[in-house]
Amino acid sequence: MTTTAVRAPQYSLLIDGERVPSHDGKSVPIHNPANNNETVGEVYVGSIEDAKEAVDSAQAALKTWRETTPRARSQVLFKAADLIDGASDEIASTLTKEQGKPFPEALGEVKFSSAVLRYYAGLSPTISGRRVSLSDPTEFGFVLKQPVGVCVAITPWNSPVVLMVVKIAPALAGGNTIVVKPASSTPLADLMVCDLICKAGLPKGALNVVTGSGAVVGEELISNKKVSKVAFTGETETGKRVMSIASRGVKRVSLELGGSDPMIVFEDADLDRAVDGALLSRFRNCGQVCMSVKRLYVHEDKYNVFLEKLSERIKKIRVGNGLASSTRMGPLHSKSQKDKIKEQLEDALQKGAKVAYGGSEPKEEELSGGYFYLPTIATSVDTGSKLVQEEVFGPILPVFRYSTFEEAIALANDSPYGLGASVWTRDLDKANRAADRIDAGTIWINSFHEAQVDLPFGGLKESGLGKEMALEGLENYLETKSVVVNSKGKTRPWL
Ligand code: NAD
Repeated sequence: MTTTAVRAPQYSLLIDGERVPSHDGKSVPIHNPANNNETVGEVYVGSIEDAKEAVDSAQAALKTWRETTPRARSQVLFKAADLIDGASDEIASTLTKEQGKPFPEALGEVKFSSAVLRYYAGLSPTISGRRVSLSDPTEFGFVLKQPVGVCVAITPWNSPVVLMVVKIAPALAGGNTIVVKPASSTPLADLMVCDLICKAGLPKGALNVVTGSGAVVGEELISNKKVSKVAFTGETETGKRVMSIASRGVKRVSLELGGSDPMIVFEDADLDRAVDGALLSRFRNCGQVCMSVKRLYVHEDKYNVFLEKLSERIKKIRVGNGLASSTRMGPLHSKSQKDKIKEQLEDALQKGAKVAYGGSEPKEEELSGGYFYLPTIATSVDTGSKLVQEEVFGPILPVFRYSTFEEAIALANDSPYGLGASVWTRDLDKANRAADRIDAGTIWINSFHEAQVDLPFGGLKESGLGKEMALEGLENYLETKSVVVNSKGKTRPWL
């Protein structure tokens, strides 16, 4: 990361309720992926000292926040959601400029984030333990649900706002305090959102944000002895490192990692609906979604007609700057993302694949300054190629044919990942059998790949550990403690 002297430090760290510069005063510009000459903002680069200070402040705030009643915590979270909704256009346009996704998608992400805050605001007063009868009639037990302590959230750039809020909201609802380390290239909308959550009435230090690099700020936060829980979303390889560092302190870890979701189109599927599902689930956010359809398997009897329909519809995806109202697909987030998917496609082509649509940058002159790439369909892809074996975080969809149910299931499961999968069929018995057999955390039946706050979300295999959203998402941030009470003043004789 190259650093520059501070020019316009609009985006300061958030520590102990204050917007503060980093200790060494270094900052970096954040660029617009639709036009790499445009600087969207300047953000401080946090240091180890900043990370330590943020954890200290979160620890100091813990006493006040955990003793705040769940109902009062709930009021703060409801108010935060209202404040975010009130500023949603401004937050979403900042998100589009720093991340690249079309404005309607950015706005959807911001609105979903306020819905997540409201969901956990509603759950906060329901947190409860239970009384338990014990075998000795003079005793009984309590099961208590308590905050875990100081939590850390480390988040990626592809959906930075919601993937941060889905950690902050249950943590605060459960009475914990938290330090966030946003992705280095998308910290701006996150800082705006956290500012508003603090303004909703949190005690100073209950929510802190330290921008900066993962290797420096991230690793200090994970290894800090005062931190009890780490919630990470990002690449599988980074997740393994996070887990190994956290294991030294036997800390709680939840990991939301990479994915390579399969989609199976059975011979009796409604093909038009399946085409809709494939387009939305692969090309939203320029294919940079963990739960994108990354491998599409179509029954051999329907392969040609499906491909024809898909190729007809894909032509209508308008690529452009995310702030233009006509845009359906924005740029890739960075040069390295673009180089990576080009390399993955090239590898497949060398192994015999064909490009059925796209496979290059768009020709329009006005798009030459951004990291744009056409939505792409690849066929005849060798299953050993990088397009299948690696996570493809961009707008390339490899389409395969299969002949039997068993073959489709085996192909779907032939991946180190297990985040999501979809099956498309009018036969519910077949759909249920497929859902039972596919190794994935979420299976969508005749529905596109999308997370819902009411359902637990998280991957199997190398896609992750633990769940976010829903009741399980709150459970991540609660410690279970048992208490034994002797009610009769008699102690059992030892011997
Ligand atoms: P990444 O792993 O490069 O970075 C994620 C975060 O980790 C960033 O904040 C980064 O600064 C930080 N980091 C990097 N090295 C670190 C270290 N050594 N210690 C601590 N923190 C460190 O991931 P990315 O490129 O930002 O995000 C894309 C990846 O995230 C994809 O693989 C995608 O599938 C995955 N993802 C998963 C989910 C899910 O819910 N399963 C959701 C969104 C994205």
